[in-house]
Amino acid sequence: MWILKPSHTACFNSFSAQLAAGRHFWQFAMLMFALQWVAVAGQGQNPYGLSLTTTPEQLQLQADSQPALRLVALEGYIPNLRTQWVYAGKHNFTGRVLYQRPAAYLRAAAATRLLRVADSLSKMGLGIWVFDAYRPYAVTLKMWEVVPDDRYAANPATGSGHNRGIAVDLTLYNLQTGQPLAMPTGFDSFSDTAHHDFDQLPSEVIKNRALLKNLMESAGFVALPTEWWHYSLPQPKNYPLMDLSFKQLRHHWRRHHVRR
Ligand SMILES: [Zn+2]
Repeated sequence: MWILKPSHTACFNSFSAQLAAGRHFWQFAMLMFALQWVAVAGQGQNPYGLSLTTTPEQLQLQADSQPALRLVALEGYIPNLRTQWVYAGKHNFTGRVLYQRPAAYLRAAAATRLLRVADSLSKMGLGIWVFDAYRPYAVTLKMWEVVPDDRYAANPATGSGHNRGIAVDLTLYNLQTGQPLAMPTGFDSFSDTAHHDFDQLPSEVIKNRALLKNLMESAGFVALPTEWWHYSLPQPKNYPLMDLSFKQLRHHWRRHHVRR
């Protein structure tokens, strides 16, 4: 006891000091919360006046009124799907980690079309390899902060097809070897070589690029002339911009969907 007593006193003193500090902490925390709330409410529509889907409830309402707007998790839906999350590491065009625990999502309108592509590919012994699909709008803002150049990054003033859940960045791979097919460049290589009309390439590469393009276009996707890997659905305005984090979607998904 005699050993404990002084330390008790010390504890008590430090406890009352902590209480006092705690009050300040809570005052500070409440102030920060209020400021943050004001910031969020102030953003309301975000810096560019765009209207964004920011809650799982809003997303659910969209899906209930229009099944094409349902967000589909591609894992388990697209057979033989492979993903490589370049934005979850630093080796991307921004040099920053942009994604935390990502997963591939697309609006049902795009996911069902991609499924058709995957089914055709399976018969050829090929699979889909995704680099990016749905991208939270906050990430588009971050990309623009680092690289404010619309040759390389989507302009947040309009948002991108990725933010709407209707764009996908992909390549093809061989189901037997697991190796990607030879394509003109790597992902996010912003060069003329990545353009669809660039033809100074081995015939096999041109053939692979054309295979991907033909299948995607037959399914209803539109190619981007400057990026062989990027495809999106037409009429983007029909699909609201979203700013839901992967964490929000994961929780929403667990509550509303049964895994296949
Ligand atoms: Zn893209």
